[in-house]
Amino acid sequence: MTDKLVFILNCGSSSLKFALIDTQTQQQILSGLADSLASDSPIITIKYQGNKHRVTLPAQAAHQQAIDTVVAFLQQHQLATHVVAVGHRVVHGGEAFTESVIITPQVLSQIEQVSQLAPLHNPANIIGIKAAQQAFNQLPQVAVFDTAFHQTIPAKAYLYPLPYSLYEEHGIRRYGFHGTSHFYVTQQASQLLGIERDQLNIISAHLGNGASVTAIKNGQSVDTSMGLTPLEGLVMGTRCGDIDPAISHFLIDQLGYQQAQVNQLLNKESGLLGLSQLSNDCRVLEEEAEQGHEGARLALDIFCYRLAKYIASYTVPLGQLDAVVFTGGIGENSDMIRENVLRQLSIFGFKVDHDKNQAARFGASGIITNNAGPQAIVIPTNEELVIAQDSIRLIQQEQ
Ligand code: ADP
Repeated sequence: MTDKLVFILNCGSSSLKFALIDTQTQQQILSGLADSLASDSPIITIKYQGNKHRVTLPAQAAHQQAIDTVVAFLQQHQLATHVVAVGHRVVHGGEAFTESVIITPQVLSQIEQVSQLAPLHNPANIIGIKAAQQAFNQLPQVAVFDTAFHQTIPAKAYLYPLPYSLYEEHGIRRYGFHGTSHFYVTQQASQLLGIERDQLNIISAHLGNGASVTAIKNGQSVDTSMGLTPLEGLVMGTRCGDIDPAISHFLIDQLGYQQAQVNQLLNKESGLLGLSQLSNDCRVLEEEAEQGHEGARLALDIFCYRLAKYIASYTVPLGQLDAVVFTGGIGENSDMIRENVLRQLSIFGFKVDHDKNQAARFGASGIITNNAGPQAIVIPTNEELVIAQDSIRLIQQEQ
């Protein structure tokens, strides 16, 4: 056991994902999820040494009790004393944060100010930070922002064609998300392709329940599909991605929807789930499409078509393309989606190697094309490792 363990927290409104990373070996020592917090039956699952430990919390127990329970587990297993920092995934850093930072009272108040831009996410992150500050009161806490990697995007890509005052006065612009993942795969692609990061031009597709695609030029993000919020861009599990903004007004004015119902519809009832009328889960849709389920087939077709269009459009800011990278649960595992998307991008010369494409799943990475010019590669993401490494780097700089 090294003394370089970082405890990672990713706090949602009713859930909390956590992990313990050894930054020297890059191994995940422990991971888990506290779910259904502040409900009748909150539960924590901790994965450690190949076992799953389930702890039922008292009804209405929330983040603080969940974190305290995990800390007690760490103490019980002689892990707590090796933890040197707590790293928090924070969804929105606005324009205030272009990189990870050690959390000070001033940083916390800046994150609170940015909450206005991410009312669904940042308040939960702040709850997590405060709870961790209590539980690990001797340790430095670090914030790693989903938006930070995208702060290199130029104004022509981040401004919406709206009155400029909305940007100036209210910060309405594209921020982009999944930055930690896009950054991680950039590093890995650089190694895999043998191209220095500052010369690497890739398009990275993070395809999980949320999905986004990023154009990365000379190792820096220059455009990305998510916007002011994580609703814009690709078709996602339950989010609609790009639609005509007037649809919202139509729903309200013509169909009598309330604003909250529109939000619910666009965020939770659309995307793969809405189109298929079946599931938001890509695996289920692939199986059902195979069995002839029309809705599943349509949902996957639209998902792939829109993704291919995004990838093609991102060759504009790049000029030159070294590779398309697939990551996230779908990108890492679905040979079918990758093949479908790359077929639609054959204008760029992609020739999928079927064996390599099928082999690249369940954590395997590698090049899946067999052609000259741009390649397609699969890289399993590791956001926790980036958060842990940033945390260690920052606390070492402080010492
Ligand atoms: P999150 O955004 O919640 O972190 P993940 O990155 O874990 O999500 O991705 C979840 C998605 O990955 C789901 O749609 C799931 O069906 C899909 N997925 C996982 N494994 C496979 C697989 N073998 N084939 C196709 N899709 C898969």
